Amino acid sequence: MIKVVSFDVDGTLVSPDFNDFIWFEVLPRLYAEKRSLNIKKAKDEVFKEYNRIGADDSRWYSLDFWLDYFRLDSDQNSLLNKYADKVTLYPDVLPSLGKLSLRYDLVVGSGMPDDFIEIKMRKDNIKRFFKRTFSSISEFGLVKKDESFYVRMCQELGIDPHQLAHIGDHYQVDYLAALQAGALAFHLDRKQEREKHLGTIYDLNDLEKRLETR
Ligand SMILES: [Mg+2]
Repeated sequence: MIKVVSFDVDGTLVSPDFNDFIWFEVLPRLYAEKRSLNIKKAKDEVFKEYNRIGADDSRWYSLDFWLDYFRLDSDQNSLLNKYADKVTLYPDVLPSLGKLSLRYDLVVGSGMPDDFIEIKMRKDNIKRFFKRTFSSISEFGLVKKDESFYVRMCQELGIDPHQLAHIGDHYQVDYLAALQAGALAFHLDRKQEREKHLGTIYDLNDLEKRLETR
């Protein structure tokens, strides 16, 4: 019996454009202004540093870290707030969260830092649907969601993994890792890119049916 349904955020509830915009446009632009470089040169230098630190390093995920690293005169909160209107929900999100929240406890299970999750939860106040948010990096220091993330999430929620259903757009960190933890998992393949398998769903309306008929 499923008690809690957990959602990934980027690619699942909101379009990943916001993060890409912050990392690949806003930061290089600030860097270019600070050092009077053209944007192309600024992007080259900024991306080189991103690669040098690398996504296995937890600092890589912190906007404040990078603002400090590049000596830019801005802080994470004001930047995120400034561009909050760039967050875009997928059209199936509000109707399906509305319905699912009547039958299940909903939580967020994301690999993004807390502050990024928070800014996205403000869009159309989708935060109201969720009992809790879990950030693998902010809460457990995990740069990627893995089996242990889902196990620890269940411990915090006081449920067994088989009482959790997780849904997300990443085949490994959302689908396989949640299955390995013993949860029910769905791979949200919005672009229908992968070969269809048992856990595939194409949109969130589909999820409601799948949870009902299992
Ligand atoms: Mg995702």
